This record gives sequence, structure tokens and C-alpha cells, in this order.
Amino acid sequence: MRIDILTIFPGMFSAVLGESIIKRAAAKKRVRIILHDLRDFTADKHRKVDDRPFGGGSGMVMNAEPIFNAVSHIISKIKGKRPRVILLSPRGDKLTQRECKALAKRKHLILICGHYEGIDERVRTKLVDREISIGDYILTGGELPAMVLIDSVARLIPGVLGDEGSLRQESFEGGLLEYPQYTRPAVYKGMKVPPVLLSGDHGKIAEWRRHQSERITKKKRPELLKNQGGNKNG
Ligand code: SAM
Repeated sequence: MRIDILTIFPGMFSAVLGESIIKRAAAKKRVRIILHDLRDFTADKHRKVDDRPFGGGSGMVMNAEPIFNAVSHIISKIKGKRPRVILLSPRGDKLTQRECKALAKRKHLILICGHYEGIDERVRTKLVDREISIGDYILTGGELPAMVLIDSVARLIPGVLGDEGSLRQESFEGGLLEYPQYTRPAVYKGMKVPPVLLSGDHGKIAEWRRHQSERITKKKRPELLKNQGGNKNG
């Protein structure tokens, strides 16, 4: 998968792209991430990418032109299908595991990171295929949401994780939250690991885990139980 990121702060991505899963995914050539500084796409001699809002009001609005120019530039250099253009936005559809799975099947994404009061609406109406929010709160810019999206999508691309089995067992799979996990030592500060996990009886362990998943989901996210099994196909 190729992901192009349009941002005014490309430096923010180095920590996330240069470590852990994403670094490994890039090294294995499963993901190719290309950063574009929106200031390289403005005609303004001071490299300005924002202006005051028409109609007044506080803050600045990102100009449409650098974003249109950057997307045209990317598209002009590729062959084949137009990439999916995603705007990170608090107005967008909430990012869920189901959405991540659907995105992981795509070949090419363009992520637009907004800033200030947001972006000129014409970007939304003409350029953007999808608006995605990472939750009902406001961040300073779209960079952190883009990193959240990249991390959650990249780990679902076949060949990225070392142990793909872990994907099948984690929270939201089959509409349940994950069961409790333990590791060595079997007794820590007097607290014992549930004996079933040390029994070696795989049937009983699976049954215990299922029961625990249901108990935790019922307590913490009862609404998920209604959709149980509904997000298996992304
Ligand atoms: N004035 C905007 C509003 O009320 O909706 C908020 C703009 S916010 C300060 C600047 C940028 O951060 C947005 O354009 C968007 O790209 C990004 N952003 C902020 N919160 C976000 C969220 N919850 N999910 C995705 N992107 C977000």
C-alpha cells in the first residue's frame, strides 16, 4: 500500500514512521509512505498556506490551492486508479476497526492533515472522498489522526505483523473485547494467574477466554454485543 501525506509539519511523522511496526512494514515493502510539505505547493512567495476566513471569525483557514496542487501532482505521477483521498476531520466518520480493515485493502491513500480552524470547504466538496475522525475531541492538527490511521491500518496489511494470529484474537474481532492476558511469573505479589491458563487444556482455555471476553464486553461496552460477529468482513 502507498500512503501520501499532505501536511505543513512533515517533521512530526519521523518518530512514528521510523519506529516499530511502521518501520518494519516499510522495510518489508508492504507500506510506502511519502510525505509532502504543503508549503511546496503554494504560489505565495512567503510560502503561506492559510488566510483569514471570509465572513469574519477567529483563526485562519487553510487555502484550497496548495492542497489541490499537491493532489494533482501526486496523481500526475502515478499510473492506474485514482487514490482514495481522505481528510482527517472531527466532522468525519469515526475510525473503527471495521473501517481500518476496509482501508487496509486499498492500494493507495492520500491523507490530508488540516490545521488552524480547518480547510477551505472546496477541498471537501471537490477533492475529498472520505472524512475520517479519530474521536469526538479536537486536536491541533490532522497529523496525529493521520498517524493513528496509518498505525491501525498498516498492522492489518498481510505480512506486516510477525504473528498474524494475534489479529484474530484482539478486541473488536467478532464484536467482543479481548480477554485478560497474563505472563510469567505465575504468582506475582501474591496474585495468582487463573489456574485454567496453566492447565494445558486448550479447549478449557478457549472456553474461559470466550467467557471472559463476553463478561468484559457486557460490563464495558454492552452495545458491542448487539453487533456480535458483524465486523468480521471489514
Ligand atoms: N475548527 C474545526 C472544527 O471545529 O471542527 C477544528 C479544526 S482542528 C483545530 C484542525 C485540524 O485538526 C482539522 O482540520 C483536522 O484535520 C484535525 N483534527 C482535529 N481533531 C480531529 C479529530 N478528532 N479527528 C480527525 N482530525 C482532527
